[in-house]
Formats: sequence, C-alpha cells, structure tokens
Amino acid sequence: MTNHPEWSNGAPLSVWRTSFMSITVPSTTPATTSPTTSLITPGRQALDSALFQLDQAADRLGLDDGLRTMLATPRRSLTVAVPVRREDGRMDVVQGFRVQHNITRGPAKGGIRFHPSTDIHEVTALAMWMTWKCALVGIPYGGAKGGVAVDPASLTSRELERVTRRYVNEILPIIGPEKDIPAPDVGTDEQTMAWIMDTYSVNAGYPVPGVVTGKPMTLGGSLGRAGATSRGVQICALRALPGSPEGRTVAVQGFGKVGALAARYLADAGCRVVAVSDVTGAVVNRSGLDVDDLRAWVRESGGVYGYRHAEALSHAELLELDVDVLVPAALEGVITEENAPRIRARLVVEGANGPTTPEADRVLADAGVTVVPDILANAGGVIVSYLEWVQNTQAYSWSAGEVEMKLRDLMESAFDAVSAMSAEHGVTLRQAAHIIGVDRVAEAHRLRGLYP
Ligand code: NAD
Repeated sequence: MTNHPEWSNGAPLSVWRTSFMSITVPSTTPATTSPTTSLITPGRQALDSALFQLDQAADRLGLDDGLRTMLATPRRSLTVAVPVRREDGRMDVVQGFRVQHNITRGPAKGGIRFHPSTDIHEVTALAMWMTWKCALVGIPYGGAKGGVAVDPASLTSRELERVTRRYVNEILPIIGPEKDIPAPDVGTDEQTMAWIMDTYSVNAGYPVPGVVTGKPMTLGGSLGRAGATSRGVQICALRALPGSPEGRTVAVQGFGKVGALAARYLADAGCRVVAVSDVTGAVVNRSGLDVDDLRAWVRESGGVYGYRHAEALSHAELLELDVDVLVPAALEGVITEENAPRIRARLVVEGANGPTTPEADRVLADAGVTVVPDILANAGGVIVSYLEWVQNTQAYSWSAGEVEMKLRDLMESAFDAVSAMSAEHGVTLRQAAHIIGVDRVAEAHRLRGLYP
C-alpha cells in the first residue's frame, strides 16, 4: 500500500509526515532494529490506515477541522533509548516507544510490543486504535501503546528482563494506575508484566498491581485474562456467522496468545479448524486439526512447522484458503489490495490489530466478505484488562464465571451496536465501529471543553 490519495493534499497527513523523524540506531546486532531505509515502513502504512479510518468517521460525523486534528494527534509520544547489557558483556542500544493517543475518557491503556520492526508510527497507529476500541466497548480508558524494537527470540531470559526493566524505567514518569496502564501484546507475556509491575513498585516503594494488566494470578492478575482476546474473537465469529457453527471451517494466521486460543475456542464451539500459521510456517489438515495437540507440538518444537498430522503450505496460501472463517491474528497489513481478491473466506474476524489495509477493505466489501474489525473483534483483551484493573483497585477478585459474564455482556452489546449502525447507515462493520468509537471520544472532548 502506498499513501491514500485522499490524504495527499490534506493537512493531517502532512502534519504527521513532518512531525515524525526516524531515529537510526547504529548497530547491526540481532537485538537491534536496522536503520530505517524507507519512509514507508509497515508502521507508516499502519498509521496511514488508522488516519484514513479516522478521516472517514470524521466525515460521517461532520467533525470540524480542530477536533479532527486533535483526534489525529497523540497527546504524548515518548521515544527512549534502552541500553542492554548482553550476556557476553557487550552493550546494545535499542529503541523504545510509548504513545498515549488520547486520555479524554480516562487513563491511557494499551499493550507493549517487543518486535524488531516496531517503530513510532506503528505504535501511534496501535494507540489510536486503542482509543476507539475502549470507547466502542464503553470502558473508561483512553488509548495507548508501547513498543521496543527488539526480537525477544534473540535474547536470553536475563537479557529480556534487563530490556524490560530498563525500558520501564525510561517510561516510568508517564505510566501508573491512574495515568497509563500497559498490558501484553506481540512478543510480551505475563512474565513481562510481572517485571513491569516489580520495576514500577520498587520505584514507588510499595506494591502497585494496578500499573499493568495481564499479570500472573499470584500478582493480582484476573481469571480469564489470558484467553480474553480469543474469547472475544469467538463471540464475534459466532455472532457474525449465519446459522450454526457446527462444521464451519476456520483458518487462523498467527498461533500466539490470541490465535492459538481463538482456534481452541472456535473448535470448542463446533467449528473445524483446518489451518494455522505462525512465523515458522503454515499447516493444513482438511479433516480438522487437533488444536490442543498442535499447541503441545508448538510448546515442544517452538512453532507449527513440521507438525506431523498436517501438510505444510505457504503463509500466502493460508490466507487464501477456501474456508468459512479467516482469523488473522498476527500482525498488521497482511490482507492487501494485492491478495484481497483471492481471499475466499466469507467472514474475516480480525484478532490482530490492523491486518486489513483500507484498499483491501474495499475489495472485500465489494466481494461481499464480512469483516469484523479489530477494534471490535479483539476488544475482549482490553475488556478483561479493565476488569483486572478494577479488581486491583478494589483489592478484590471475581470468579472466572463473573469475569466471563461481564466480558460477554460488553462484547455482545458492542457487536450489536456496530451491526445496527452498519445496517442503518449502509456502512461496513469497520466504518460503523469507527463512527461509534470516534463519536464517543469527540463527545467527551466537547463536554470537557478546551483548557485554558
Ligand atoms: P504473540 O506474540 O503471542 O503471537 C503472534 C503470533 O503471530 C506468533 O505465533 C507469531 O509466530 C505469529 N506471526 C508473526 N509473523 C507472522 C507471519 N508473517 N505469518 C504468520 N504468523 C506470524 O502476539 P499476540 O498477543 O497473540 O498478538 C497477535 C495480534 O493480536 C497482534 O496484532 C496484537 O496487537 C493483537 N492483539 C493482542 C491482544 C492480546 O491480548 N495479546 C489483544 C488485542 C489485540
């Protein structure tokens, strides 16, 4: 994808182009991002998509230029250098980011990604999507995201702990249970959240469990958080599928925290998961994969590649399989103008953030493919993160059943609101979700007014 023509002469894009400079890190170690060679990075593409979606919603809502610019601009963007002592004594420096896109409806909330190609643009796009997502599902948060440009697989556990603690130390002034609450994302997990909670608490001088969500249960995590995003994907898929899920075929791209459990929950609901992929490869079995057995294989071998009860296929082929449901649950920008005409699934449920480009959206809409958009489909994670934070602030915990009931309630209400808006205004589910989310944030801005 290149730039959207709609933006080429508009102020918002030029503002963004000039306000973000790429910082080059002079190192070639595996733990360090390569210098940016092109202005149009995948992160820049993700940000273009997010701005395009905002622009479309703003047009529908008739927002004035001031409010549009306000909503297109993150409140706070922090880029930090994170020095890392490697096991052999060398020191590397990697880049880290924390972007708080909007804090009008509540404290900023969003995951932290450890991935070698993350950059300020990607983190900004992800933060913006978090703002609309929290507003759409009606939880009192603004949107944020963090990232460290590092490949966690290339680091030892001790190096990873040092990167995490140093990064948290660098962003410490802007996070906190009432300011900005991180959570897991690509390449981070419960252990990462435990280190963040500890680093913050040591600096505060007392335990502060509410500074992160997605923590281990022993440290104040919530029952149901680990599977919450995937549960939300399942809820959306079942609501969007016409008729019974029994025997419906599913392909899942990305077999990590979101994708593996989405596959499991869809199989539990009666669907036939026929193909999955991860960074190591893709596998298919038309009779259906045993998802638990495949998860055990991944734990043992490190990836889906080589799984003995399936055949190998390419990453591209997985996306284009003739299945009922496609769940992209890896990274952004994987369904593009180029491959969208070959997508045969009738329903796409976006476990990942930003997997479909705006051009691909148009192709899929024209072909009658239903896309349940990321800000709705993967909102289960932030919903249960919110429930975890509420439990932390009350020093109280709910049963798994109570958490699941609250999650289901919020997901189903949001899904129904988006469906109704889509039907009423003849727009796609993504446009409907953005109209609702952006409208709620714009309304909060109007009510609060501008200080001074
Ligand atoms: P993860 O790191 O646990 O898993 C990512 C998976 O994607 C891994 O299996 C990895 O091998 C795979 N992958 C990477 N590149 C791939 C490629 N080119 N083709 C196929 N697979 C590839 O991350 P996650 O937490 O599961 O996040 C996945 C997506 O879901 C991201 O877009 C994230 O922002 C989004 N998300 C996550 C949560 C959450 O609670 N973790 C919540 C909302 C949205």
